[in-house]
Amino acid sequence: SFTIKASAQPLKNAEELINSVETFIFDCDGVIWKGDKLIDGVPETLDMLRSKGKRLVFVTNNSTKSRKQYGKKFEIFGLNVNEEEIFASSFAAAAYLKSINFPKDKKVYVIGEDGILKELELAGFQYLGGPDDGGKKIELKPGFLMEHDKDVYFFLVLYECISDLSFSNSLYKIKKLHSILIMVGAVVVGFDRYFNYYKIQYGTLCIRENPGCLFIATNRDAVTHLTDAQEWAGGGSMVGAIGGSTQREPLVVGKPSTFMMDYLADKFGILKSQICMVGDRLDTDILFGQNGGCKTLLVLSGVTTLPTLQNPNNSIQPDFYTNKISDFLSLKPA
Ligand code: PLP
Ligand code: CA
Repeated sequence: SFTIKASAQPLKNAEELINSVETFIFDCDGVIWKGDKLIDGVPETLDMLRSKGKRLVFVTNNSTKSRKQYGKKFEIFGLNVNEEEIFASSFAAAAYLKSINFPKDKKVYVIGEDGILKELELAGFQYLGGPDDGGKKIELKPGFLMEHDKDVYFFLVLYECISDLSFSNSLYKIKKLHSILIMVGAVVVGFDRYFNYYKIQYGTLCIRENPGCLFIATNRDAVTHLTDAQEWAGGGSMVGAIGGSTQREPLVVGKPSTFMMDYLADKFGILKSQICMVGDRLDTDILFGQNGGCKTLLVLSGVTTLPTLQNPNNSIQPDFYTNKISDFLSLKPA
């Protein structure tokens, strides 16, 4: 048997919804802020929920910042939010590696921005790549080195010096790949504005040549809304490139995957039925809440419009929808 999800209802009784759960998980962009602009009424709404004793958690798929960096952003907006309440997909990648006891002597190759590096470092993992690889180019000549690790670099230079210069490229290649294989145990891919062919090649080698190498994606958002003027290619585009060359499916740690929800439920000891997930996006936020068995509320302050929600082709229906979270302040029963 199967159940058909009823169409989303407009939120008429916010008080009832608030009283029915103990935790609110808020998506960030489109719910709390839009880019660099705080959404109207957010501080008052969060204060009201806290005064009612609700646990507030903030989850974002944007991996470019660490939770500490997001803490600053909340602070700049004058919002009373603790770092420990923030769960970005950058943090999720490090938390996932911790959860599987990823070896500390292995390295993580990062395709992504600063947030991922910061979280890996805090968790005690060694990494390569990140923004440093932004300017690198592939050179199609026999001596080309993936010059990440000094040890590997010197090893290869030494190897070149002592070997007969007429040594075959293939043996050289085998040695080079072997060095990479033993170092890198995971490739983490997130949104990366410095993405290039070098990173694709490096990540691909790690994954293709080493069957044990993990392929982890922070998120797969197709597009993001860096500015209002247009939609921008999202983290899904970088993940798709590595998926294309490796023919492997990534393990996704951000929304809508269940990793973060399980992590939160475990960390705070909360029942998922006691959570309301609030988001502006159907295929990440609302699905994340539904995959977790939570109540779901779509807000129309971000990327989803009412016609999109009500389009017959849209099968993702939250429990409720409303314009913005500050509707919590006014929507009381008559
Ligand atoms: N990824 C990037 C690069 C973004 O810029 C954004 C939003 O600004 C997102 C993902 C989605 O973030 P959120 O999950 O907070 O809506
Ligand atoms: Ca959002």
